[in-house]
Amino acid sequence: MKLYSTNNRNLKVDLKEAVMQSLAPDKGLYLPENIPALPPYFIRNLDQYTFQEISYEVSRSIIGDYIPARDLKKIVESAINFPAPVQMLSDNIGALELWHGPSLAFKDFGARYMASLMSYFIRNDDKHLTILVATSGDTGGAVAAGFYNTPGIEVIILYPSGKVSDLQEKQLTTLGGNISALEIKGTFDDCQAMVKEAFLDPDLNNKLHLSSANSINIARLIPQSFYYFEAFKQVFRHNTEVIFSVPSGNFGNLTAGLLAKKMGLPVKRFIAATNINKIVPDYLETGIYKPKPSLSTISNAMDVGSPSNFARIFELYQGDHKLLGKDVSGFWLNDDGTKTAMLDVYSKFGYVCDPHGAIGYKSLEKLKKGELGIFLETAHPAKFLDTVNEVLDMEIEIPEELASCANKTKVATLLNNDFQHFKAYLMGHNIP
Ligand SMILES: *Cc1c(COP(=O)(O)O)cnc(C)c1O
Repeated sequence: MKLYSTNNRNLKVDLKEAVMQSLAPDKGLYLPENIPALPPYFIRNLDQYTFQEISYEVSRSIIGDYIPARDLKKIVESAINFPAPVQMLSDNIGALELWHGPSLAFKDFGARYMASLMSYFIRNDDKHLTILVATSGDTGGAVAAGFYNTPGIEVIILYPSGKVSDLQEKQLTTLGGNISALEIKGTFDDCQAMVKEAFLDPDLNNKLHLSSANSINIARLIPQSFYYFEAFKQVFRHNTEVIFSVPSGNFGNLTAGLLAKKMGLPVKRFIAATNINKIVPDYLETGIYKPKPSLSTISNAMDVGSPSNFARIFELYQGDHKLLGKDVSGFWLNDDGTKTAMLDVYSKFGYVCDPHGAIGYKSLEKLKKGELGIFLETAHPAKFLDTVNEVLDMEIEIPEELASCANKTKVATLLNNDFQHFKAYLMGHNIP
């Protein structure tokens, strides 16, 4: 298996390099050179396979024999060890619940798969790996949980001060061990820019073996395609067309859906659903792609002004705006619209959505025609407790995983959004 950089088709690496580097040296994002279609009998008979078996078949199709079958099976089985159920709210609308993993958000799939893959790749190396990750909320918790206690790997998480929920912050800052948290006085985009700059800094790269767990890493992306197959398996009925609505920030989830379609999953269409950070819906409408500084919203995991995975989407469609428009429609809501959407799902179906999922739901309600629509419920509503309690005027129950870290003490280092400070911290950081 070879992967190439979205900036240069001739820059090719193998999977281990792509996973370790995360970002290509020319700042492009890696994409598999071949995205083979799965055999039609596999797609027709999805219901004969468990979620883990589906995940293995999809992995093997992309990764090929680069990893021996027995090892790949173990990697998949240790990472994908919780379900992705579709809750049908009505005959033709379902919520794909992606929050049954340890941090209660879909990012657990990517983080766990990546941790399994990385520890496999470094199993015979004696060097220590440092993972840098910027989070707008959920990534940090998933990566912290996914890599916690992974031998040979140290994780440093950057998050924007005051811009993640209290419980999200607790998930990032209370594990300890090989996980450290940096509270940055700035926005998520600042955190992301600092991480990107660190990868390009020669001093840091000489001292530390840096790697990233942001959604730019191909190891995060691959497993996110599994649950599109798993969802399709659960809802498919003869003669139904299926569309997916994807609440989006950095657009990893949507990119993974487009990969699943390329691999032969017969999805009719996707909806790129965002909050007022509507760079991609605007692009779909106008053909002009214009990143902007991010704005804060109640769906903060989607507060991204320069979506990193857009380069991959662009590449998958060879920059053809019309072609992309056939597969993807855009939709966005402001905070008031998001609150109304949360109320609507609750009053119509008695279903509690988090703010991100609610945007996914509303886009289906607005754009769906006769198809069966699945929206990705990307996080458990308790992760956005204040908003959910306020909007729905009720107290929802907090799952045990969250409740237990709420009582622990936050441990984080406060830093300015200044690369030199960050670098000094990293240079002085003692990696055992
Ligand atoms: C990360 C996240 C998103 C955005 O996903 P992308 O793959 O970055 O587009 C949406 N909802 C929640 C709850 C998230 O944590």
